[in-house]
Amino acid sequence: MLARADELAAISEEHGRLTRGFATPALARAGDLVATWMEDAGLTVRRDAVGNVIGRVGAGPPLVLGSHIDTVPDAGRYDGPLGVLAALAVVERVATHGDGSSLEVVAFADEEGTRFGTTYLGSTAYAGSFDGASLDVVDGAGVTLRDAIRGAGGDPDLAVTVPVPELAGYVEVHIEQGPVLEREALPVGVVTAIAGQTRARITVTGEAGHAGTLPMDARRDALAAASEVVLAVERLGRATAGLVATVGSLSLTPNVGNVVPGETRMLLDVRHADDRVRRQAADEIRAEAERIAAARGVDAEWALRYDTPAVELDPGLRGHLADAVREHGLPVRELVSGAGHDAVVLSRVCPAAMLFVRCAGGISHDPRESVSEDDVAVALDVLERVVRSLP
Ligand SMILES: [Zn+2]
Repeated sequence: MLARADELAAISEEHGRLTRGFATPALARAGDLVATWMEDAGLTVRRDAVGNVIGRVGAGPPLVLGSHIDTVPDAGRYDGPLGVLAALAVVERVATHGDGSSLEVVAFADEEGTRFGTTYLGSTAYAGSFDGASLDVVDGAGVTLRDAIRGAGGDPDLAVTVPVPELAGYVEVHIEQGPVLEREALPVGVVTAIAGQTRARITVTGEAGHAGTLPMDARRDALAAASEVVLAVERLGRATAGLVATVGSLSLTPNVGNVVPGETRMLLDVRHADDRVRRQAADEIRAEAERIAAARGVDAEWALRYDTPAVELDPGLRGHLADAVREHGLPVRELVSGAGHDAVVLSRVCPAAMLFVRCAGGISHDPRESVSEDDVAVALDVLERVVRSLP
């Protein structure tokens, strides 16, 4: 698996760093390589309308194993591919043992969404929930998603008409992308839920003025007020169990060294596994921003950009994963995923579950992404046990 991850990592749009956006020649080559491995494993391979690579063995609604093979720019080599390679390796083991179960391995063509700003393009096309309106979205070079799909040999019109597939379940192996397993010295963890997200833009409007002549007590400094809001967001995040709250973007007007800032826009990101807790936190941040603004004589305007509910992963499949971890002689560590995954989409059409693998330093979306051979071996063993335990 690690050698295959290295082989895949060598397939990139850019020289010297790993970047595989949707519908690029690099993604096609990576898909070809995965397809070859699938065929070698005895799977019947097809590519769907958006370029997902799908390998199948057995008849009837399949248990689906997989993840994505697109990457962010300057990516690591395990976020995504690890789940595809684990799926392949398990199928190779199971096939060797002459098991007759129906299995499907999927390498999704787009999860990161970096080229078109889409979410779960690959898995929505696979699961019959592809959003036709997104076909008119353009990338940074002005190419529409429709043309990109066509250019890569796909069929945008067909993507919209894919029926909801009949699936027995979906299990995805993925690096944790966080430090929890490493901190607790555990190779793998069972994901209970994928956190819901609130994203909002808060615009603080004060009054710009000359930094030399405007007395301190006459100012309505939009950045000073925004700074208090940023700290309030951090305070609330720290005070609430399981909550992560971030202001990740600030923009100032006029953004000049000798002018008191007149306007500050910030982008807020709030996540929690419990939607009630998340929405309450967002409400509190909004109220706190308004209180800070009133006290400083500025305005704070709140614009909700995005509100997606948390997804609980399937208790039955999670139980199978937990049993397999225990049978391996390890304690079961349950954890919430703060990042989104293809399992969100699959959970709408079948029972879905995820197994996280410890990654060094919790680092992801970075070339330093790293997993250990021993941990990968544990993940593979756990996944194999689950596949064998299912009817
Ligand atoms: Zn991923």
